[in-house]
Amino acid sequence: MQTLSTNIAATDYVRSCPRPLGLVPTMGALHEGHLALVRRAREENATVVASIFVNPTQFGPQEDLATYPRDMERDLALLEAEGVNLVYAPSPEEVYPPGFDTWVEPGALAERLEGAVRPGHFRGVATVVTKLLNVVTPDRAYFGQKDGQQLAVIRQLARDLNLGVEVVAVPTVRDADGLALSSRNTYLTPEQRAAAPVIYRALSEAGNLWLGGEGNAATLRSAVRCILEAEPLIEAIDYVSVADATSLLELVRVDGPAMVSTAVRMGRTRLIDNMVVGGG
Ligand code: AMP
Repeated sequence: MQTLSTNIAATDYVRSCPRPLGLVPTMGALHEGHLALVRRAREENATVVASIFVNPTQFGPQEDLATYPRDMERDLALLEAEGVNLVYAPSPEEVYPPGFDTWVEPGALAERLEGAVRPGHFRGVATVVTKLLNVVTPDRAYFGQKDGQQLAVIRQLARDLNLGVEVVAVPTVRDADGLALSSRNTYLTPEQRAAAPVIYRALSEAGNLWLGGEGNAATLRSAVRCILEAEPLIEAIDYVSVADATSLLELVRVDGPAMVSTAVRMGRTRLIDNMVVGGG
């Protein structure tokens, strides 16, 4: 496995790699969720590149950029064991050199849900993903359903800007108790960790209601909210959404693929999760 930290070296390296080439962008602190993306990429491509970059421009000023977990040595060992060919791990200065001043601004899709709570977040995501794609030139790029809105924004970005990459979605990997794996789960106290699977139970309730014939989106939202509100360790609920899976517009009735999603705060930790109901 090769590890490179400059744009020029990474672009040079991939020029001589067999195709198809799959890219798995990550912010490191890898867990089984990331590894599911890597394994899928390994199955489908002759060359697999993983990137590790904690992207400062997608963090708000009050967010956890400084404390975001980092463990490069462990990450490299995990990626090597999965048969990754290249790890591209640039420094912030390599990605945003002095004078950097061009941004990829996603549209309305990025203003809802996470975008409403984290202004500028998806501009940072869209910009860094565009740059990673330009450096690594993959045929396919792999993203987790865990970050459902990010996936929708990137699909639209690839379509709108003719990026020529196939965006592949990988299902959310969960712990045995239902909690979606996330690098930020390490922030949780043991008590918070024990309570956190309530998020999965709440989303599952919406799924079960829908399977039982409940198509009213407001009813599904209240069912999710009701379960979350019963957990005292959840200090705030940023949103509970039942939205069209592609446009992320809030629905009145669920009669096609819908994303049921929520973001909650437990102490200093913000957790997001979603579940797609209605097919898709
Ligand atoms: P991150 O390092 O948090 O930026 O995540 C890198 C990629 O891994 C993103 O496409 C995420 O959606 C994906 N990912 C993170 N957690 C999970 C999970 N539990 N299951 C599946 N994919 C995940």
